[in-house]
Amino acid sequence: MPWSLKFGSIFGIPVELHITFLLLLLMFSFFGVMPLIVVILLFVSVFIHELAHSLVGRHYGAKIKKITLLPIGGVSQMEAIPKSHEFAIAVIGPVASILIGVILFLFGSLAGVKMYFDLNWVELNSVSEIIRAVMSLNFVLGLFNIIPAFPMDGGRVLRAFLASRMDYLKATELSVRIGQALAIVFAFVGIFYNPWLIIIAFFIYIGGMSEYETNRMSSLLKGIKVKDLMIKDIFTVSAGDSLEDFEKLLIEKKHKGYPVVENGNVVGIITTNELLGVSRQKWIETKISDVMIKDIVIASPDMEVFDLHTKLTEKNQGRAAVVEKGKLIGFITKTDILKFSDILSIKRM
Ligand SMILES: [Zn+2]
Repeated sequence: MPWSLKFGSIFGIPVELHITFLLLLLMFSFFGVMPLIVVILLFVSVFIHELAHSLVGRHYGAKIKKITLLPIGGVSQMEAIPKSHEFAIAVIGPVASILIGVILFLFGSLAGVKMYFDLNWVELNSVSEIIRAVMSLNFVLGLFNIIPAFPMDGGRVLRAFLASRMDYLKATELSVRIGQALAIVFAFVGIFYNPWLIIIAFFIYIGGMSEYETNRMSSLLKGIKVKDLMIKDIFTVSAGDSLEDFEKLLIEKKHKGYPVVENGNVVGIITTNELLGVSRQKWIETKISDVMIKDIVIASPDMEVFDLHTKLTEKNQGRAAVVEKGKLIGFITKTDILKFSDILSIKRM
């Protein structure tokens, strides 16, 4: 996630802190030490909530990329989430938060503190008030996340339930619609009651939409391999050629991007963007290898097109070279993948 700082890693899972969290810490430091401690403990609570999702996810075979902590909650980035175990992975977060609340309630009560629900965490004067605030915040965290507003935990639980009765994509669509309706309610309540709700509503609305799109594409492109879609009739450029040579090829072949080859191996990709990044006077003396994209995505012909699309999006790239046994056999662009999924959606209508 942009604007995140890597904080450390636990159980081999990298943990990131979003910059807005540090701003919140700075803001609360003006209220005194006690509120600052509550904010830090809130972070620890959100972290335990996310860790619970991640560990259960990993138990069922999902690949955990990282945990990012934001002021409105956390995000566990997972890959290859097993659809049959989504219920357990989603429900464990709220369960963990409520459990922390219960433990703090018992701990406080045993220590002789009067435990009741109290969300005032700015004017705090004692340790017992801190325990009370952190307990209350964990109950809020747990109960709020149970609301079935996809992509929040409760919404994921709802999707898992619906998916046992209908097609996965239909279940996602229905959960997203319910989530967006709830987001509108949150935003309204937020205007009168708590501005945080407006921000959360925004994330639910956008997050639901993007997850639906991803699911739709994944189901449309299921079973389609890179070799089915790649361009086999490829034009390559040599790493040692100048940008002026490249410009001539551009006019002749009319493609936007090309694989760059050196001694028979693909070493990069060059597009018109890299060419335009250099002033025209320097095109004669600049080699393609000086400006090409070196950290490219290499695909195998049998890779699923959807997986390649995910990889290109992650690396923020538009093209991949298709290589088999060390030999360049094709070229594929993200635009082609998107166009093809549009065509498939017409077929499905
Ligand atoms: Zn959660």
